[in-house]
Amino acid sequence: MTRQTYGLIEAGGTKFVLGIAHGPDAVGKTARIVTTSPEETIAAMLAWFAERGPFDAIGLASFGPVELDPASPSWGHILKTPKPGWSGTDLAGPLAQAFSCRVGVDTDVNAAALAESRWGAGQGQRCVVYLTVGTGIGGGAVIEGQTLRGLSHPEMGHIRTPRHPEDSGFAGVCPFHGDCLEGMASGPAVIARYGRSLSELPADHPGLEVIAWYLAQAAVTVQAMLEPGRIIFGGGVMKTPGLMERVRIDAEKLGGGYFRGLPAEVIVRPGLGERSGLLGALALAQEAA
Ligand code: ZN
Repeated sequence: MTRQTYGLIEAGGTKFVLGIAHGPDAVGKTARIVTTSPEETIAAMLAWFAERGPFDAIGLASFGPVELDPASPSWGHILKTPKPGWSGTDLAGPLAQAFSCRVGVDTDVNAAALAESRWGAGQGQRCVVYLTVGTGIGGGAVIEGQTLRGLSHPEMGHIRTPRHPEDSGFAGVCPFHGDCLEGMASGPAVIARYGRSLSELPADHPGLEVIAWYLAQAAVTVQAMLEPGRIIFGGGVMKTPGLMERVRIDAEKLGGGYFRGLPAEVIVRPGLGERSGLLGALALAQEAA
């Protein structure tokens, strides 16, 4: 059997991580390019891959919103986004055209959920949810080995949560909803309220309690919707010391002992660490091939 070669892309709002994989699970060479204008970023991406093809397939794990309907003329395009210049950008088309291969596309978080369910913290689980808490908040889900899609991909970062009792004065930073989950608990929401990132605040600062409480609300909402075997929390904000433990404790209280999944077991960190995005792209490439 000949070895398969896959091109991998984790397309983010601040950087694109590129990789090459040979075979089922080994990611070889990788590179990072800074996300600037679509023209510049796509040109740099194509140039890096051009020296490393041909490919059996390419996996594209993209920031959202991204069109996932293969029947749509906008398939693989970035949809309406506040990120300047990127609305309507075709990400998948230039790849398919340049390398004459199939391109598997999904959101970064759906792809991360897929990688975690295959190789990471979600192995053996029927349903796995991946939530990333960073510049934004996003969520993806895998059910019975398939990523969850409806009319579009899930938008779990924009669920509504009740307000923390001591967080009444803050309007929230989501340009669409104000005080949705992302508006209240993302990295920019923390800085807008407290002037610093969560990990830079003193350990006894009330902000830690407030943010943990919102994230626990999200976990309990996800439990009520899907009752997943694992809710995997990734992203920069989750590196704050003590945050994960607080989220588990609050989710236990908020859930009232009702759900089958015990927060202490269900709420976990990524098993693949920082690699879940790129391995997600690998999983997408394998499916596309
Ligand atoms: Zn929102």
